[in-house]
Amino acid sequence: MTEMAILAEAAAQQIEHFDVVIVGAGISGVGGAYHLTKQCPGTSFIVLEAQESFGGTWLTHRYPGTRSDSDLYTFGYRFKPWTSAPIATRAEILDYMGEVITENGIDSHIRYRHTISVARWSSSDKLWTLEGTRTDTGETVRFTGNFLWMCQGYYRHSEGYMPEWRGMKDFEGRIVQPQNWPEDLDYAGKKIVVIGSGATAATLIPAIAAECGHVTMLQRSPTFFRTGRNAIPLADDLRELDIDAAWIHEIVRKKILYEQSVFTRRSFTEPETVKQELLAGVRAHLGPDYDVATHFTPRYRPWRQRIAFVPDGDFLEAIRSGKASVVTDEIESFTEAGILLKSGETLEADIIITATGFNLNVLGDIDFTIDGEPLNFSDTVTYRGMMFTGVPNMVWVFGYFRASWTLRADLVADFVCRLLNHLKEKGARQVTPTLRPEDQDMPLLPWIDPENFNPGYVIRGMHLLPKRGDKPEWQHTQDYWVEKDEFPAIDLDDGAFVYA
Ligand SMILES: Cc1cc2nc3c(=O)[nH]c(=O)nc-3n(C[C@H](O)[C@H](O)[C@H](O)COP(=O)(O)OP(=O)(O)OC[C@H]3O[C@@H](n4cnc5c(N)ncnc54)[C@H](O)[C@@H]3O)c2cc1C
Repeated sequence: MTEMAILAEAAAQQIEHFDVVIVGAGISGVGGAYHLTKQCPGTSFIVLEAQESFGGTWLTHRYPGTRSDSDLYTFGYRFKPWTSAPIATRAEILDYMGEVITENGIDSHIRYRHTISVARWSSSDKLWTLEGTRTDTGETVRFTGNFLWMCQGYYRHSEGYMPEWRGMKDFEGRIVQPQNWPEDLDYAGKKIVVIGSGATAATLIPAIAAECGHVTMLQRSPTFFRTGRNAIPLADDLRELDIDAAWIHEIVRKKILYEQSVFTRRSFTEPETVKQELLAGVRAHLGPDYDVATHFTPRYRPWRQRIAFVPDGDFLEAIRSGKASVVTDEIESFTEAGILLKSGETLEADIIITATGFNLNVLGDIDFTIDGEPLNFSDTVTYRGMMFTGVPNMVWVFGYFRASWTLRADLVADFVCRLLNHLKEKGARQVTPTLRPEDQDMPLLPWIDPENFNPGYVIRGMHLLPKRGDKPEWQHTQDYWVEKDEFPAIDLDDGAFVYA
């Protein structure tokens, strides 16, 4: 079908047509919308979002103390200066994103309460058809788009990951998943057990410790934490000198990125020294008598999992104050009054909070078909963690684990805009990542090397994810320092891109 015929058919069926359809109005989708307006002016686009507002992660997570665990100079967009303390609350991040939306006229492009469930690619029409439901009216909605930009994040927003433990039904108190924090939860004076020791536990515990009776963090194994002031003195000095906010943003980003690169390199070259430095930071708050060896010394190498930053050591200070404590053990079963541990000890609880992570969802729980054939993403090979072999006109945004997510969202957005402009210049309407002759015998490996990075939700979902090859084009490196130079230099006429 020609472009004109597509528009005419879409109008006849009351299907709205756009050059680009973005799914998700989190940090990636809003950033994508911004970059489209700047780098591809005149491109029609829509952002489809299941929730009632923008923010994604920052809208979904409402537990007390929800905040970033990386700095906002790099978690913030490259184009919008961050002007406050580096670790930000949920409300501050939502305000920042709200400003990006209003300052750039993105509001009118977003459709909220639109949950997309089906995406069909037609090679004869060179078009995606998306189908979903308006959650406020129950109405079925349909859109067509030449290009699909998947900014749906990496986990199911409607529910967190809840393992099954024996006896859960017997527990007489309340079980809470932080991703679905109940507004009516009264924890004042209550005995609380938080299961898990990731960033969620470390931010939730200091936020509730003062008000609850006591909070125990129950972990199977310890996690690394980094401590420090929630301040960047250089940023404060430059502000004091009345330097332009955009300059400060750029300078501070460069400084943070440089320091992170040194830290990451050292985590690989001298893991033991880095480990001892991290543990010293923990000891500085907990004192020499605390059993750091049992409760804060992980079994894995630093940086194999994301390292949460604990601003001003607040989580550790809650432990030092006696309002919070850590138990390292395993759950035998839930009981009426709490949790029986494998060691035989019991933890009494009025409320049990399961900070046990996410349910990975690949591409927003959407059923994809390509020319009528169901698409199984695990049968595809990833093109640099952005596109998939055999899947035309589609990019997904999966940010960095070890650096701020948004650094990659910005880089991927530049790539998408360049690709869209290239399609236009070539007069092509379809681009499909395809293994080249030299890639045919390439060994295919799991999406990410578990030796390199292995958080639970990735390991649990690895079988759903695309494969990687042994060449840079077919890998998701998770390395900002490589990708920041390689992405802008990608040759769009390389044989890995087949145009039609
Ligand atoms: C509590 C918490 C703190 C974090 N802190 C940091 C941090 O400090 N630094 C960092 O780098 N990362 C952090 N992360 C990781 C974080 O999720 C990402 O950095 C980032 O916010 C993801 O943004 P996103 O827009 O790609 O996806 P999301 O924030 O997940 O947003 C995706 C959006 O897509 C929508 N969507 C999904 N499927 C569909 C569908 N089928 N139809 C319509 N809409 C759909 C969702 O409703 C959602 O609004 C944190 C995560 C959590 C949970």
